Amino acid sequence: AESTGSDKTWVIAMDTVFRPFEYTDEKGEFVGIDVDIIKAVAADQGFNVDLRSLGWDAAVTAVQVGQADALLAGASITEERQANGWIFSDSYYDSYQVFAVKADSGVESLDDLKGKTIAVKNATAGAQYAESLKDEYGFQISTYEDSPSMYQAVVLGQADACVEDKPIMADNIKTGGLDLTIVESTASEVAPYGMAIMNKDNQELLDMFNKGLQEIKDNGTYDEILNKYLGE
Ligand code: GLN
Repeated sequence: AESTGSDKTWVIAMDTVFRPFEYTDEKGEFVGIDVDIIKAVAADQGFNVDLRSLGWDAAVTAVQVGQADALLAGASITEERQANGWIFSDSYYDSYQVFAVKADSGVESLDDLKGKTIAVKNATAGAQYAESLKDEYGFQISTYEDSPSMYQAVVLGQADACVEDKPIMADNIKTGGLDLTIVESTASEVAPYGMAIMNKDNQELLDMFNKGLQEIKDNGTYDEILNKYLGE
């Protein structure tokens, strides 16, 4: 690990409840794959981080207005975001969007969603995916602020389905004991996660992240982190 010699502390904006990438555990500690990755990368590259658990929307805004230096929140690398000034790191996890329904709903494909209400999380890749399908499949969209309220909407019957990143959905169903089923046939293309900056002045942080990410992949730390949160 090489030190940059800078004692600047980089402010990293994150989601709040996006388990297993970031969440507060039973002990009240903010943990998850994103949290462990940035801590390991910062230790490897010799920089300091101030992690802010803000929620998705608020985290994006914080980086846009310069209150935070980077966004690390399971952010999907999309061309639309890149065209809008988001500058992504190398990818650190492959993910995709998928629909989930109540276990007994009988929904097996996008064709079964005609006339239904789909819950999405505001300004996410999942919301965008649902938006891109809604005219073709004839469903309506209802927007929620965070992942738990989106899942609750389906559990409580206020919405018929929800769309989110597969690993988050799988974890929520498992750890939350939610009566929901993932409908694999509704999956989007794979879009990897990256850390994002929105101001070119923070390129130094992105470079350190990319270097450190490669280091922790090479030395086994990255696999340990994934195993810790995704292993059986
Ligand atoms: N991966 C999704 C996106 O980039 C969701 C991110 C999130 O909700 N934290 O929009």
